[in-house]
Amino acid sequence: MRAPWRVAVVGGGIAGLAAAVRLRDRAPAGTEITVYEQSGRLGGKLRTGELAGSPVEFGAESFLMRDPAGGESAAVALVRRLGLGERIVHPTVGQAALVVDGGLRPIPGGTLVGVPGDLERVTTVARPAADADPDAGRPLLGADDDVSVGALVRARFGAEVVDRLVDPMLGGVYAGRADDLSLVTTMPALARAARVEHTLVGAVRAAQAAAPRAPGAPVFGTLAGGLSTLVEAAAAASGATVRRGAAVRELTPAGPGWRLTVGSTRDAELVDVDAVVLAVPARPAARLLAGWAPRVAEGVGGLDYASVALVTLALPEPELPELSGFLVPSTEGLLIKASTFFTTKWGHLRRTDGLALVRASVGRYGEERQVQRTDEDLAATVHRELSAVLGVPLPAPVAGHVQRWGGSLPQYTPGHGDRVAAARAALRAGHPTLALAGAGYDGVGIPVCVRSGETAAEEIITALGGSGT
Ligand SMILES: Cc1cc2nc3c(=O)[nH]c(=O)nc-3n(C[C@H](O)[C@H](O)[C@H](O)COP(=O)(O)OP(=O)(O)OC[C@H]3O[C@@H](n4cnc5c(N)ncnc54)[C@H](O)[C@@H]3O)c2cc1C
Repeated sequence: MRAPWRVAVVGGGIAGLAAAVRLRDRAPAGTEITVYEQSGRLGGKLRTGELAGSPVEFGAESFLMRDPAGGESAAVALVRRLGLGERIVHPTVGQAALVVDGGLRPIPGGTLVGVPGDLERVTTVARPAADADPDAGRPLLGADDDVSVGALVRARFGAEVVDRLVDPMLGGVYAGRADDLSLVTTMPALARAARVEHTLVGAVRAAQAAAPRAPGAPVFGTLAGGLSTLVEAAAAASGATVRRGAAVRELTPAGPGWRLTVGSTRDAELVDVDAVVLAVPARPAARLLAGWAPRVAEGVGGLDYASVALVTLALPEPELPELSGFLVPSTEGLLIKASTFFTTKWGHLRRTDGLALVRASVGRYGEERQVQRTDEDLAATVHRELSAVLGVPLPAPVAGHVQRWGGSLPQYTPGHGDRVAAARAALRAGHPTLALAGAGYDGVGIPVCVRSGETAAEEIITALGGSGT
């Protein structure tokens, strides 16, 4: 390929931006990178706002410090690459609670997203089945199989462990149900162990042993100043031309490269590039692929999404327990799915005026109507339910903010990983200069999406003829 390469990154979320940084670092000098973002701002689900004078995350809040193999997560590596390592902060209070029968109980330790590695430790919140987890005489999961997390845990530990522990913990991340979500995509380390181990307790312990954590090592981190600083730093370090308010409406193969149709129908702009990193959610991606790769589009576009709303309230001197927050099983009948006590959890957010910032997340997969309630209704319901769960009438909020994230959390059903692998193989065979990146394919979360974007960038560099460094 003749230099300079022209590469379009479609989608200015963290996956697209990580791809742009990796392209800058590894593609030949002079490579022209352009990020096309349909909205007016970069970051996608990363958005730092302000409430009562404090920086508050209106989207993603923190990132995992480690990757499943035990090393530093891709998010941490990117933060360091961007010179922001010194801004990483960790929760001051890590203990969270579960709502059980209307009251709060500490979430038992030693689980993997709620799946216990020691059944004794979870009896404070859920009773495992009497005949739990007999040796299956063979691995729990066949070499090419996938299963829903709920189905596996229900069969091995019984319903209560799923309903009271695993479901709310998975729901806290995906706003979905354990009974629908793919083990391979949502808990890859456990899936790997389940292909070897004969019991689920054994599989959890093997997965934990494969990624040992130094005692006291923090699980989560965020950036003082907010995650939008990561977004801005990535955009700057990529040296990319950033086009905000620039929706890519069509994408068609043009020789070995691509033609993009950018902007509104009336004044559409045609752009020719050598390669594309497609870092938009699965549905818009499927629309862009449908004209020339209908089978791939079908495989990618079948992914469903849940909608959530995040309600943040500023409360004057409330009585809050020393917890980072709580999770709510769907069986409790509350609108709140999870709550975070920002000013308790994060030392850097603590205030001297006694004001507390509390966030509640509302909306489970299949209950989109709840997210469509008015801001006032959502804020009032959250305030009432918080008071009920905490057992104290909370003071009236002095400020509030409602952020809706429509169709934002992918619901990976079993077999998702195979569908994505098939789509990628078909693209690689016919159109190697296009790579898919982001949560629509590789999983939810900042580290996963950073890695996904970086991998897509590497694929593009290989397809165009190798590294320039
Ligand atoms: C409410 C919420 C809270 C979360 N909390 C956490 C958390 O605390 N920690 C964590 O690790 N993860 C969290 N996640 C998950 C994480 O934020 C996401 O998995 C990740 O940010 C997705 O990044 P992405 O780049 O794949 O997609 P996105 O962030 O969705 O970015 C895609 C971008 O593409 C743009 N786009 C779409 N179509 C087009 C088009 N045709 N042309 C141009 N641009 C287009 C969109 O506007 C968007 O900016 C959370 C997610 C949500 C919704």
